[in-house]
Amino acid sequence: MTPPAVVQADYPTSRLTTVGTGGPARWFARPTTVAELGDVLAWAAGERLDVAVVGLGSNLLVADEGYDGVIVRLAGALARIDRDGDRIVCGGGASLAAIVKRATGWGLSGIEFGCAIPGTAGGAVRMNAGAYGGEIRDVLAEALVIGAEGSRRGGPDELGMRYRRSEVRPGEVVAEVVLGLCPDDPERIRLTVADMQRRRREAQPAKVRTFGSVWKNPDPGLTAGRLLEECGLKGYAVGGARISPVHANFVENHDGARSADVIALMREARSRARERGVELEHEVQLLGPIGLDI
Ligand SMILES: Cc1cc2nc3c(=O)[nH]c(=O)nc-3n(C[C@H](O)[C@H](O)[C@H](O)COP(=O)(O)OP(=O)(O)OC[C@H]3O[C@@H](n4cnc5c(N)ncnc54)[C@H](O)[C@@H]3O)c2cc1C
Repeated sequence: MTPPAVVQADYPTSRLTTVGTGGPARWFARPTTVAELGDVLAWAAGERLDVAVVGLGSNLLVADEGYDGVIVRLAGALARIDRDGDRIVCGGGASLAAIVKRATGWGLSGIEFGCAIPGTAGGAVRMNAGAYGGEIRDVLAEALVIGAEGSRRGGPDELGMRYRRSEVRPGEVVAEVVLGLCPDDPERIRLTVADMQRRRREAQPAKVRTFGSVWKNPDPGLTAGRLLEECGLKGYAVGGARISPVHANFVENHDGARSADVIALMREARSRARERGVELEHEVQLLGPIGLDI
């Protein structure tokens, strides 16, 4: 079957991820409406192709061999941001940065923490992203999830949102996100956002390519960053990738890294943590023929 018009062949995924590694996707789709998204999913199902969604690629590591399926990135109306009273209704492809900006202007509070997370609304729901004591599940009224078999709407419980995970399955697309917020003084919201941004600049590597946290925190009292720092891994390098000298739970692509370099660093970190009796679970999502055990 001919692919829909919004689909193109052979797209470099290194352009789609913040860390800037990864080989080509066999197909890349940019649907702008729910109808176009439906066409892409139906076509992919007919061709028996795997589907993966990418937001801003800010917690994603794609294999150097690439992805032998369809990568979907939401655009147009699927990245819109509208207001409905105290709610914000946005496309899954809307960036959190833009949502926070609009919410601030509208005097709607609750999503300020999103200024620290360089992803999309859909990716944030899938990951239950959070920062500074807030998580998307705290403000999510409901999301529209579309898959090859149909669509469903659900809130945080129906979507199984827990610490950095949800039950949005691979191949399913969070196409619309509705946030329930509270009216507040725009100036107060602006100050909160500015304070969070300042704290972020001080704590995390800046102006380098990373994908945010590599590992989930093993427990609330022990951060992965502190554990790996105690293992002496700050600055540890393989190929063009290194564990950030600023924050040990970040990997930097500092010199033309490949995803394989990043995986080698992750293996080393996992093994050093095991020596201390801690089993680390990765937060970064892996796509294509890539993994810690292959
Ligand atoms: C500098 C930096 C700082 C960060 N700080 C934080 C932080 O403080 N807190 C935090 O939680 N995260 C943080 N992250 C990680 C990342 O921003 C979040 O995980 C974010 O939610 C990922 O969103 P994304 O749209 O970029 O998703 P991607 O990275 O593109 O994808 C991540 C996963 O979500 C899936 N996905 C993406 N969009 C959709 C969709 N529409 N429907 C279904 N599935 C989808 C992908 O298939 C993949 O499995 C940081 C990253 C960076 C680079």
